[in-house]
Amino acid sequence: LTVGVPMERHPLERRVAATPESVSKLTKPGFSVLVERGAGSASHFSDADYEAAGARVVGAEEVWKDSDIVMKIRPPTLEEASKLEDRTIISFIYPAQNKELVQQLVDQKATAFAMDCIPRTLSRGQTYDALSSQANITGYRAVVEASNEFGRFFAGQMTAAGKVPPAKVLVVGTGVAGLAAIQTAKNMGAIVRAFDVRPVTKEQVEAMGGHFLEVDHVEDGSGAGGYAKEMSKEWHAAAAKLLARQCEEVDIIITTAQIPGRAAPLMITKEMVARMKSGSVTVDLAAESGGNIGTTVKDERIVTDNGVTCLGYTDLASRLPTTSSSLYSNNISKFLLSMGPQTTKVKDHFYIDHEDDAVRGMLTVERGKLMWPAPAPPPP
Ligand code: NAD
Repeated sequence: LTVGVPMERHPLERRVAATPESVSKLTKPGFSVLVERGAGSASHFSDADYEAAGARVVGAEEVWKDSDIVMKIRPPTLEEASKLEDRTIISFIYPAQNKELVQQLVDQKATAFAMDCIPRTLSRGQTYDALSSQANITGYRAVVEASNEFGRFFAGQMTAAGKVPPAKVLVVGTGVAGLAAIQTAKNMGAIVRAFDVRPVTKEQVEAMGGHFLEVDHVEDGSGAGGYAKEMSKEWHAAAAKLLARQCEEVDIIITTAQIPGRAAPLMITKEMVARMKSGSVTVDLAAESGGNIGTTVKDERIVTDNGVTCLGYTDLASRLPTTSSSLYSNNISKFLLSMGPQTTKVKDHFYIDHEDDAVRGMLTVERGKLMWPAPAPPPP
């Protein structure tokens, strides 16, 4: 079986789906690997290193034409999907948002696994959970971007030249990215406050030394699969009061609030940003799905009239391309190895086990048959 690794062509993408290290893990048990020339250069992996790991470095056309299984990060474009007749793709697909792509994969009689459909509550699935590996990097990088824009230290200092107060950071949404942001900001010495609609995250925030803010309206936002649900009008009104007060006090706001399959909730309005101090910074990790902050412009850095820098970058994981590629390639190659070729039950084909909750959760199209959405896995 031949695995192909094409170059990512999205203009903001620097990651690659396989590193030389993961290639060697695939070639050892018997996969052949084709890597597109220059595919790893933006993440600092050379063609020579891929060759040394056992891959053949070839042109784009050969990768798409001669691979049985294509490994990618971004969902394939419709043009790329048209080259997948009778073949398999493993990548982020976001089937709920990309219906046309899924139909194309069905029409092409392809097989597709969506890395974004890993059941999060499944403990065995953690190894393949690229949403988490990338969100962790995104949270870290959000703090790095904020500190780059901020005109002060994060940690307070007493120096001979004067006293410097610590920065106050607010994190809205304490999933994987939010917790990584809290940890990074704490490590840099800031005072960190955080809140989430899921009260279960309070303990995790406090374990990292953050202060968990509670909205003055009791409502549990825990939804299916560990994700959040949409909150009531009353809860949003109470949250808005709390956030408006916080905007007057804090220096940096990092938002990560998401509800699967829906537009991101607007948590910080333009009016609230207008109450922030000059020199403050906002980083909106939900910019891709509409944003949590009224002043966010997707993929842009803007400065408001009152001097607040607002970042809406959607490529934060890609800004740490070596680490994000290494972790993503571990997720995807371990997932592939769990299906073959060493576990092959059908000669020269990898085995798709519908009884495996991780495999079934990610299986979106199987030889032209729509398999998404998968039935919910049993509770842990
Ligand atoms: P996400 O990106 O879907 O959402 C980010 C956070 O925003 C969540 O914590 C959510 O509760 C919060 N949120 C949503 N609406 C909000 C609002 N209006 N105000 C404030 N906060 C709001 O989350 P994620 O990081 O992808 O994590 C999703 C779930 O998966 C979590 O329960 C997480 O613990 C779980 N998870 C489990 C594992 C595992 O054990 N295998 C691994 C990773 C994640």
